[in-house]
Amino acid sequence: LERESLALLHRAIDKGVDATVSRIRRKKKVGEWLMEVLPPLRRYVLDQAQKKTGRKIRPRDYPAPFRAIEAVEAAFGKPIAEGLDLEARIVGELVPTQTSKNLIWLFKNQTAMKSSDGGVQATPLRVDRSAVLGAGIMGGGIAQLAADRGIPVRLKDIRYDAILDALRTAREVWDHKLRRRRMTEREAQQKMAFIAPTLDDTGLVHADLVIEAVVENLEVKQKVLAEAERRMESRAVFASNTSSLPIGDIAARALHPERVVGLHFFNPVHRMPLVEVIAGRHTSPQAVATARAFAVRLGKVPVIVKDAPGFLVNRILTLYLNEAMRLLAEGVRIEAIDEAMAAFGMPMGPFALLDQVGLDTAKHVGEVLEAAFGDRIAGDGSLLDVMVSNGRLGQKNGKGFYRYRGDKRTTVDPETYKLLAIPAAKELPAETLQERMVLSMVNEAIVCLEDSVAREPRDIDLAMVMGTGFPPFRGGLLR
Ligand code: NAD
Repeated sequence: LERESLALLHRAIDKGVDATVSRIRRKKKVGEWLMEVLPPLRRYVLDQAQKKTGRKIRPRDYPAPFRAIEAVEAAFGKPIAEGLDLEARIVGELVPTQTSKNLIWLFKNQTAMKSSDGGVQATPLRVDRSAVLGAGIMGGGIAQLAADRGIPVRLKDIRYDAILDALRTAREVWDHKLRRRRMTEREAQQKMAFIAPTLDDTGLVHADLVIEAVVENLEVKQKVLAEAERRMESRAVFASNTSSLPIGDIAARALHPERVVGLHFFNPVHRMPLVEVIAGRHTSPQAVATARAFAVRLGKVPVIVKDAPGFLVNRILTLYLNEAMRLLAEGVRIEAIDEAMAAFGMPMGPFALLDQVGLDTAKHVGEVLEAAFGDRIAGDGSLLDVMVSNGRLGQKNGKGFYRYRGDKRTTVDPETYKLLAIPAAKELPAETLQERMVLSMVNEAIVCLEDSVAREPRDIDLAMVMGTGFPPFRGGLLR
């Protein structure tokens, strides 16, 4: 490739760009040729491209794709050199934009996070085989991902139904790739065969890494760890996917607490790029390095965080959700709050997010954090109490702040205002709403740095972008 590229450059210097490019130009496809000779068709295709792109992103936030379409359009019927000139000019205008700088910065740090040792001075254990305990939403997702990367995984649950569901869900992820021709049927079958389901603990002896994703209950998790330790090989690492329990507590009665580590995936596992790696008070550097390296193998961005309540992302997010609920309690409409944050660039507003997470789960996390940090983190918990005690759990039971048709969120449920006895008549500018919610997160991020929950601002920026969808064009919460 290098030799050919150099030959091409020499030719361009000797004979000029036009002559060189026309020589390497491939044959046009029928569609391209038609677009060239039929301006109305071209207009239609480009309009569609604009529209489709516009549905996903806004030119103000991400100008490059729109400018690319502009370059394609402007280059029609022009000599190649003119087209290249125009492209160069557009690139020149795009490179110094804040969006470009932020995205490049994120990309560089994301790559660095994956390729470095993350500051852990230990050699990770080689993971040839893995096991996942608990085949629920998270366990099933983790097993699918391990199998996808060709790592054999023993998947255990105490319920037969859970295993069947997990296998079905894993197959659906591959079927989706199959339909988009990203994979063949044979490959899908091969990957499926990497998951070995079981209702007992046999097979744990072969696993170098056992990941626990059973229900969020300290006693259950300690019991599962004790049973696993009886079977696991002496060097193997035990990772917990807990979202709120201290790793130190889970490992409190372990035979080998140094081999217990936190490996916190986000839901849905195959889509969310972040994994928090948590070192408990006794966790060995090798266990941390093993969990970290495994996350990288699964294609994730690992961020190492301290074993503190809520770890990093859920703790910061709780402050954001609390501020949203405070605004609602003051009488600002849910629609206005959610729209303000969507306009800021979040994938969805805080109330849509609360519904998606589950109002009971959000309430539980809020209580854990309040118990740990007191008033600073206390929200207007009464709103969630009222919602949950009235059977409104969010998307999972089709009743939350919003209404649902099947899985689809429709409109804010007017009943919500009545139930909460909120007049919803206060109006505040979108910028005020954005500042109140975003700065609540910024403040907590600073406390996390002071408490060494995160090691540096860069880790927080990456974690919030990869774990919550904080708008990448902004570069991250602290950036
Ligand atoms: P889930 O209820 O969907 O699945 C839990 C599974 O564990 C069930 O299938 C249950 O039958 C099984 N189980 C219970 N006891 C078991 C045992 N002794 N051995 C084997 N299996 C057992 O729960 P989930 O949402 O997948 O959550 C699992 C863990 O992941 C929890 O600790 C949770 O806090 C954490 N987590 C959840 C999310 C999320 O968004 N759902 C995100 C991050 C972390």
